[in-house]
Amino acid sequence: MASVDKRGSTFFQRILEASLGYGTFGLDLLDALHERLPKTSCNNCGKCCNSISIFSLEYHRIIRDLMTRLPVARLKPLLLRALRFDQRLAAVGKEDRIRCVFRDDETKVCLIHPTRPFACRIFGLLKEDGTRECPNVRDVNAPRTLSAGEIESRQTKIFEVSETFQVNPADPGTAFFPFEFWLYRFSLGSEKALEIYREILVPSSTPLTNLWAVNQKM
Ligand code: SF4
Ligand code: SF4
Repeated sequence: MASVDKRGSTFFQRILEASLGYGTFGLDLLDALHERLPKTSCNNCGKCCNSISIFSLEYHRIIRDLMTRLPVARLKPLLLRALRFDQRLAAVGKEDRIRCVFRDDETKVCLIHPTRPFACRIFGLLKEDGTRECPNVRDVNAPRTLSAGEIESRQTKIFEVSETFQVNPADPGTAFFPFEFWLYRFSLGSEKALEIYREILVPSSTPLTNLWAVNQKM
């Protein structure tokens, strides 16, 4: 038991040190990009709150924010639980999904709401064809569409200051990985994180498996 605790403490320490060492580079840019997105509300059913894919910049934003808001006694078990995504599989509709570690299903709260990533912010926004990914999303202000081009240009800005890795020989460089991948990357190193991503994370998630199948063909 003591060695398990020690290992957990080492992982935790490495995770915090990596984000402290990262500093604040790019975080103002990220906040400004988030700020300019349309504000929405929804029914808060939580069905879409499954493992999120994010850029390294967003990852550091989240970790640095959590460090300022949560005491170690709360942050440590949270991040260690995030590493055990095998314990977070749950049925969502007809699929087993890795639930987002930041979603508290009892209180229906997103623990990182002020710094939640781009992927969560754009989900359900009004598209140019008048549809939404979720029909229960409503605009807080006057409805405003966001074109695919606008989303891409904002994501490109985040991509440019984020880490990339090659997930297969034909891949020019991927920057968008599940939150759990980044935890492993900063606690165990990039090689081990990529191994876990390919061998465990992708097979445990249907959307990731679909993405992987597309990447393999490229
Ligand atoms: S966006 Fe839709 S699916 Fe997601 S929590 Fe809100 S109502 Fe539920
Ligand atoms: S970060 Fe928040 S909004 Fe995004 S999936 Fe997790 S709980 Fe839901």
